[in-house]
Amino acid sequence: MKFSELLKGLTPYTAGEQPKNKKYIKLNTNENAYPPSPSVRGVLAAFDADALRLYPDPDASELKLTLAERYGLSPENIFTGNGSDEILGFCFPAFFDRESPPVLFPDVTYSFYPVYAALYGIPYKTPPLRADYTVDAACYSPLVSPSQGVIIANPNAPTGIALPLYGIEEILVQNRETVVIVDEAYAEFGGVTAMPLIDEYDNLLVVRTFSKAYSLAGIRCGYAVGQKPLIDALGVIKNSFNSYTLDSLTIKIAAAACRDMEYYDMINERIANIRDGAARRLRADGFTVLDSAANFLFLKKDGVCGERLFSALKERGILTRHFKGSRTSDFIRATVGTDTETEVFCGAVKEIADGILHGKG
Ligand code: PMP
Repeated sequence: MKFSELLKGLTPYTAGEQPKNKKYIKLNTNENAYPPSPSVRGVLAAFDADALRLYPDPDASELKLTLAERYGLSPENIFTGNGSDEILGFCFPAFFDRESPPVLFPDVTYSFYPVYAALYGIPYKTPPLRADYTVDAACYSPLVSPSQGVIIANPNAPTGIALPLYGIEEILVQNRETVVIVDEAYAEFGGVTAMPLIDEYDNLLVVRTFSKAYSLAGIRCGYAVGQKPLIDALGVIKNSFNSYTLDSLTIKIAAAACRDMEYYDMINERIANIRDGAARRLRADGFTVLDSAANFLFLKKDGVCGERLFSALKERGILTRHFKGSRTSDFIRATVGTDTETEVFCGAVKEIADGILHGKG
C-alpha cells in the first residue's frame, strides 16, 4: 500500500484520554466543571429532527450574527469553525508559507501548533518562556527573530499564565505586516482579551472556543474575530476543504449559549474562585503552582516526579495530564473541577507527594 511521504514524517497531536470503562474524576482536558446553560437544553428539546434532512447554513449566519451583536462587530469580522483547533489548523495554510521565515510561538505552549506546522511543512521557531514561565514579548520582535507570524495562547497552556494586554500590544506593534494569532481558549476564566484591539490592528486574529467557558466541548465549535481580510482568508481555506464545518444543531446551540452570558459568567467566576482557593491550599502544602488565569492549574513539588504523580493520581481514579519535555515534565496539569472534585484532588495529590517524599510512594 502506498502512503504519502508527508504521512511518514508526521507525529500527530495526542488528545487527552476520554475514558470509556472506568469512572474517573476527570481533570485532564480542561472541560467545564458545570453543565451548559438552560437555553442549550431548550434548543435540544425543541430541535426538529426533520431539519437534519437539509445541509446546514455553510455561513453559520445565525451564530455569526449573535457573536457580532455581542462584540459590537459585523458578521464579516467573524469566522466560525469545528472547534478552535480547526480554525488554528486553517490559519497555517491561510497565512504562512513553506519557504519563508519561521512562525513564532513559545517553547512551552499548546502542543498542537507544531503539529499543524509539520502538516503544512511550515517552519517554526520557539522563543523560550522566561524562567518564571511568562512570555517575553521582546522575543517576538523581527529584530530579534524575523518571522512570518506569531501565535500566542493567552492565557498560555499548559501554564495558565496570562500575558497582560500591553504585552500582546507590544507583539502587535512589532509585527505590523504579519499576522498575530491570539488563542484565547481560556480567556473567560480571568485573563485579558485582545478583542478591543481588533479595530486598531489589522494583523490581529483572536481565536475563541465554546469548549471551555461555555461547557460545550461536545459540539465542537470555535470562532475567530478579526478584520475582514483575515476572516476572508480563513473562508477561502475552509471553502477549499469543507463547506459545512458546523452542523445545524451546533449552530443553534452555540448561538443560544451566547445569549446566556449571565449563567456562564456565574459558573466561570465560581471556577476561578475554586481555582484560586486550590492554588492557595496547594502552595501552603509545599507545591509550586503557577499563577493561573485559566480553568486549570500547573503544579509541581520539588523531589517528586511529575509522571509518577500523574500515574498515582490515575490509580486513585483522578485523571490529570502530564507533558514530557525538559520544562514541563516536573509538572502535572489539573483542570479545576467542582468544589468536591477539587477537594478530593488537593487531598490526594498532597498525600501522594508526601508518600513519595517519605519513601512510601
Ligand atoms: N487552544 C488551546 C490553548 C487549547 O488548550 C485547546 C484545547 N485543547 C484548544 C485551543 C482547542 O479547543 P477546541 O478545539 O475544543 O475549541
